[in-house]
Amino acid sequence: MEFWLDVNEEQNELREWVHGFAEGVIRPAAAEWDEREEMPWPVLQEAAKIGLYGFEFLVNTWADMSGLSLPLVNEELFWGDGGIGMALSGTSLAVAAIYGSGTPEQLVEWVPQCFGDETDPQVGAFCSTEPEAGSDVAAMRTRAVYDEARDEWVLNGQKAYATNGGIAHVHVVTASVDPSLGARGQAAFVVPPGTPGLAATNKLRKLGLRASHTADVFLDDVRVPGACLLGGKEALDERLARAREGQRSAKQASMRTFELSRPAVGAQALGIARAAYEYSLEYARNRVQFGRPIVDNQAIAFTLADMRTEIDAARLLVWRAAWMGRNDRPFHAGEGSMSKLKAGEVAVAVTEKAVQILGGAGYLRDHPVERMYRDAKIYTIFEGTSEIQRLVISRAITGRQIR
Ligand SMILES: Cc1cc2nc3c(=O)[nH]c(=O)nc-3n(C[C@H](O)[C@H](O)[C@H](O)COP(=O)(O)OP(=O)(O)OC[C@H]3O[C@@H](n4cnc5c(N)ncnc54)[C@H](O)[C@@H]3O)c2cc1C
Repeated sequence: MEFWLDVNEEQNELREWVHGFAEGVIRPAAAEWDEREEMPWPVLQEAAKIGLYGFEFLVNTWADMSGLSLPLVNEELFWGDGGIGMALSGTSLAVAAIYGSGTPEQLVEWVPQCFGDETDPQVGAFCSTEPEAGSDVAAMRTRAVYDEARDEWVLNGQKAYATNGGIAHVHVVTASVDPSLGARGQAAFVVPPGTPGLAATNKLRKLGLRASHTADVFLDDVRVPGACLLGGKEALDERLARAREGQRSAKQASMRTFELSRPAVGAQALGIARAAYEYSLEYARNRVQFGRPIVDNQAIAFTLADMRTEIDAARLLVWRAAWMGRNDRPFHAGEGSMSKLKAGEVAVAVTEKAVQILGGAGYLRDHPVERMYRDAKIYTIFEGTSEIQRLVISRAITGRQIR
């Protein structure tokens, strides 16, 4: 499909529908769930009830060959609120992992279970990061050992900072099958609901996205059926054999997941940035100092002009990468990483400027820009830090192993 910047009628309807939910349900609940630092299950249930959360919604969104529906949805949800937005979107990481590494049969079996149904919505978790393996995915210590007699995989290790970790119905866990191969010896496994041996810490206390559940996950002799290896044993054995021969074709499970999800994550950052920009624009129009609205000062108006320009620039990168991903275009210059890098940095800069425009009021919890400022910071950290995005881009454009 050609790249096209006009949002069509269907996409516009979708955007307005999600915006309505963000404005009417998410925004009014945002401060409360941020303060409570709890998973906003009632909002999730409400979203599931109207068909805005679930397998079917995902399929419909994904059906858009332009790739734009997903960023449009994410921008609106996160315009509503970052923490609740992440509570609604965290499952998509597990889904992306199943999509990225699983067979069509595994996709059909596990993705609907990640979401539950409209009367009993569930969440999924993707557990890759470990205490000693954050940016350095190759340092992963969690081990997966195949028990041939029982056709089961046995997982042991510890995962850090997993969104929905411990409360998820389905956990997708990455583990090393052959540590001598580093990142190329890793695979992803589905851990079905109720599997013994998987435990988690309490919800971790965070700077932002406080409504979203984050926890460390422990795997103690977790046994999963052979069929839970994403992609299947035959494909894994072939991949490992190629890696042992030193061929470069073996893709690592975590990296493939991140490639798929970066523009969607960039769109989340955009939503927070746009919300802060709109709020501060409105505030600047109404706040009077020195006998005139503060927006009449170039210092404020130019700041708003920069904020808007940066948001629009980031959106173009996000849309381009989303279109490229959906249409199987190769990311020759790390365009997926560019989109997430730019949107994340813009979200941090724009929310900081929004706080500045509100002055003292911006520092208080009475106005949402204080929360947006805290929420935005995660976008230069998770799904690959800004430094790691620059590493991906610089390697792609130079063809050299930049370190
Ligand atoms: C709220 C939240 C939710 C998360 N959700 C998930 C999840 O669902 N699943 C999951 O698997 N993980 C999740 N994560 C983990 C997240 O992806 C990692 O925190 C992130 O990848 C960074 O890893 P790290 O924290 O170990 O930082 P480190 O890798 O220790 O990095 C520390 C600093 O060093 C820099 N650095 C590291 N290596 C280099 C280098 N080669 N060159 C230059 N700079 C470098 C980094 O950019 C960073 O600034 C989540 C984290 C948070 C906080």
